[in-house]
Amino acid sequence: MAAFSSLSDRLTATFKNLRTKGKLTPADVDGTVREIRRALLDADVALEVVKEFTGAVRERALSDEVNKALNPAQQVVQIVNEELIGILGGQQRRLDFAKKPPTVIMLAGLQGAGKTTLAGKLAKWLKKEGHTPLLVASDLQRPNAVTQLQVVGEQAGVPVFAPEPGNGVGNPVKVAKDGVKEAERKQYDTVIVDTAGRLGIDAELMKQASDIRTAVDPDEVLFVIDAMIGQDAVTTARAFLDGVDFTGVVLSKLDGDARGGAALSVASVTGRPIMFASTGEGLDDFEPFHPDRMASRILD
Ligand code: GDP
Repeated sequence: MAAFSSLSDRLTATFKNLRTKGKLTPADVDGTVREIRRALLDADVALEVVKEFTGAVRERALSDEVNKALNPAQQVVQIVNEELIGILGGQQRRLDFAKKPPTVIMLAGLQGAGKTTLAGKLAKWLKKEGHTPLLVASDLQRPNAVTQLQVVGEQAGVPVFAPEPGNGVGNPVKVAKDGVKEAERKQYDTVIVDTAGRLGIDAELMKQASDIRTAVDPDEVLFVIDAMIGQDAVTTARAFLDGVDFTGVVLSKLDGDARGGAALSVASVTGRPIMFASTGEGLDDFEPFHPDRMASRILD
């Protein structure tokens, strides 16, 4: 995975140094943990996450639990792998569908995070999974957002509910509510509500997103975050957690070649699982997120 190629190389080089060791001494463990710490910090993983991660690796590598059947390098790889899966959220978390349709999925995140694109990707994926989604255009902030959603809706073959001129224009909360009503009326089983973002956190944006959340009472609130935003990831994620209490995370732009530390920080800092990953601009560049597969890719 492009976003982790540098981190991957650094970790592999660190483990290689251990291959010739017959037994791990405390000095070996400390040296290795130091290297892992530097590699994670250079990948822009948040300091608090790095500290917790390296603390756990160190403790386990020095403990009696190490698997004696493995050589020292394999032991450390196994521990790092398990800890990576842990900070990525552990088990895969699937979408929670409402017992009584429609299931309402609200999207939130900064402008440019990839929400509108994600709406199309998710709609296409849901359709493939046998669902009947409806897209709802509640991003009325950005001039082109409604049209952009209509374009991705068309590409995905999924209808889009947008404000009618004179009815609900300028009122994203009303559009969201009307969209859900439309889904009930026409028996769509899932509703994806696209919402507005700003370039940075701002109180008005958060209030609007929070009002939409209250109005449509979604089954899932997905926080879309650009995996490339680096150290800002933690502050942004915490602000959205406070503002809209999201239920899951979508990492976008994992195809980028910058440092993907955000991906390794967000689940652990917010306690919310990463549920999907976006890996390109096309509607098919999208997949459910599996913490164990991501850890293996990083350690490959
Ligand atoms: P929004 O403001 O949150 O709705 O963001 P958009 O969906 O408009 O996306 C912003 C830009 O990022 C657009 O140019 C998208 O094509 C691009 N984009 C979205 N997701 C991805 C992704 O996973 N990878 C890449 N490379 N670009 C993406």
